[in-house]
Amino acid sequence: MQTYSKQAVKEELTWFFLIVFISLVIGYLTESVGLSFSLSLVIYLLLHFKQAWKVLTWLSYKSATPIPSTHGVWGLFVQQAIKTEKKNKKHKKRLSALVKRFHEVLAAMPDAIVILDEFGGIEWFNESAKHILQMNQVDSIGQHITRCINNKKFAQYYNHKDFSHSIDIESPFDADISLNFRIAPYGKKKQLLSARDTTRMRQLEGVRSLFVANVSHELRTPLTVISGYLELLSDRDNDPMLNPIYQQMSLQTDRMTTLLDDLLMLSNLENQQEAINDIICIAAMIKDIHREAQIFKGEQHYSIHCDIDNHLNIQGNAKEIHSAFSNLVTNALRYTPSGGEIKITWKKQQNTAQFSVQDNGIGIEEKHINRLTERFYRVDKGRSRSTGGTGLGLAIVKHVMLKHDAKLDIKSKFGKGSCFTCIFPKERIVIQKI
Ligand code: ADP
Repeated sequence: MQTYSKQAVKEELTWFFLIVFISLVIGYLTESVGLSFSLSLVIYLLLHFKQAWKVLTWLSYKSATPIPSTHGVWGLFVQQAIKTEKKNKKHKKRLSALVKRFHEVLAAMPDAIVILDEFGGIEWFNESAKHILQMNQVDSIGQHITRCINNKKFAQYYNHKDFSHSIDIESPFDADISLNFRIAPYGKKKQLLSARDTTRMRQLEGVRSLFVANVSHELRTPLTVISGYLELLSDRDNDPMLNPIYQQMSLQTDRMTTLLDDLLMLSNLENQQEAINDIICIAAMIKDIHREAQIFKGEQHYSIHCDIDNHLNIQGNAKEIHSAFSNLVTNALRYTPSGGEIKITWKKQQNTAQFSVQDNGIGIEEKHINRLTERFYRVDKGRSRSTGGTGLGLAIVKHVMLKHDAKLDIKSKFGKGSCFTCIFPKERIVIQKI
């Protein structure tokens, strides 16, 4: 390119000097050098105008006109334009191949994929969307997604605009099919919606949950019988050899009963579809839990403070909420050495109702915090067992919170203490003295 541009500049200068030279010679012969020189410049400019005109016409109607024959700097300009165009064409080709491949990948996916514009209108969908979401080119394109997927829970999810999580709903077209919806914003205010058929997974989960519920239920009766006989035996038999054995056996059967109760509670939480929405007087509930805590702590000494808003109530399932709050309080007692302080608070904060249990106990290392609500996850198995823990307490709390549209927030410092907070949304709050 450099040699070509040098050549073009050379050519341009040669023309210029040739015209100037001829004009000077003519001017000298006719004794009018000034006029002749000016004329030559006008001719030189006209030649440039002609070339510029040719190039401009070619640029405007490139596909219809042949490449103009130009020289000097205009030739260089045309060469450069041809080169840029070739590059652009190549780039365009590569881009369209990429877009084609992207569409092919989306089209081949087994999940339904839908591209939405900034107003929620359907722009494009893949083959699977035709089967899973019953979309078709004629009716669905341009339609708002909430009209196409006519489901109250989906509409709430879409309008809420919090796409950090997915939602599971029943297919609006077939009640036997479960769908998992996820929306991911991309590009300039566009959204990519994916819907996956989770029917099989749901069925398996249902079978597992039912199995656990049945086993727990079946084991409960023989365990109650064993526990009753053990009590009878230990009352009658005052044998110093056998008494510690009876005590151990009673302790273990009690633990098994608590474990079965927790397992049953969890599977009930998972399986119960209809929600109970009673107005719960939380202040009275906390007083009961406080009383239970006094019994639970036994010989140990704790100072338990309560800071309660007596008018603040919520709507929900009283049994489940009691179980969740009570789990948090007994955990605070379990994981705080004797002499520690526990603070129970029930207050309205920034439009939410918050129940928190703060202790100055053993605390939890940062790495465990995200896993605490998993079933049977314990930081210290030995301590949990020795204090009668089942490893299911926080899993129950998390499920209860989920069922009440609430969140469980855990803050803890190893060696310093923990604070567990249940945060209820404003929709659950009822302000009145019951
Ligand atoms: P567990 O029956 O073992 O207490 P949970 O599900 O209630 O089971 O709690 C899970 C784990 O979280 C516990 O084993 C314990 O290690 C930790 N944990 C829960 N509450 C506290 C607390 N207040 N202070 C320190 N650790 C706690």
